[in-house]
Amino acid sequence: MLNKDTQIALQKGELLPLMEAFYTLQGEGFYKGTAAYFIRLGGCDVGCHWCDVKESWQAEAHPLVPVDTIVAEALAHSKTIIITGGEPLMWNLTLLTEKLRAGGARTHIETSGAHPLSGSWDWICLSPKKIKRPVGDVLQKANELKMVIYNNHDFIFAEEMAAQVSPECLLYLQPEWSKRAEVMPKIVDYVMAHPQWKASLQMHKYLDIR
Ligand code: SF4
Repeated sequence: MLNKDTQIALQKGELLPLMEAFYTLQGEGFYKGTAAYFIRLGGCDVGCHWCDVKESWQAEAHPLVPVDTIVAEALAHSKTIIITGGEPLMWNLTLLTEKLRAGGARTHIETSGAHPLSGSWDWICLSPKKIKRPVGDVLQKANELKMVIYNNHDFIFAEEMAAQVSPECLLYLQPEWSKRAEVMPKIVDYVMAHPQWKASLQMHKYLDIR
């Protein structure tokens, strides 16, 4: 049980549950191949059965780290900072993004949108999940929509989500990693028939980098 001061610091975003942070290349979406520093926050209540970071789900398993410590480490590595999880919008990200931007960094987020948007963002990568759909205005604010394709119904869900984003939002279909051999040919056919979409691969997994 957290004491009251810690709970208040969490609510203010002065402390965040940090699972890991690392400098690598973005492997997915529009910024694929770009050097970036990833901040992976613990905690996710969405529960995708194919999730490849299930160890992130329990926020309590990860240390609460002062936001200034996270920011100093990030800015020492890169000016492109990607906040991911877990589901990072479980936390108040206003202070984190203010401090990163004050340090001259671009702020990117990867989110399912299942919790209200907080923070100031240069790039929002939205990856909605059927079991806990996006809330608030995150669909309209998304810069890229990344739909993970596990089965045929996911194409229908992808179109349902694409109908709600802005006209400028980039549209990506990405195979769920364990099903990529089965799903990728379907994505290829789908993109050729619906060229407003692009195929996205998890380049970092092919390269065996983080
Ligand atoms: S939203 Fe992301 S972190 Fe959460 S269960 Fe789904 S894939 Fe995993």
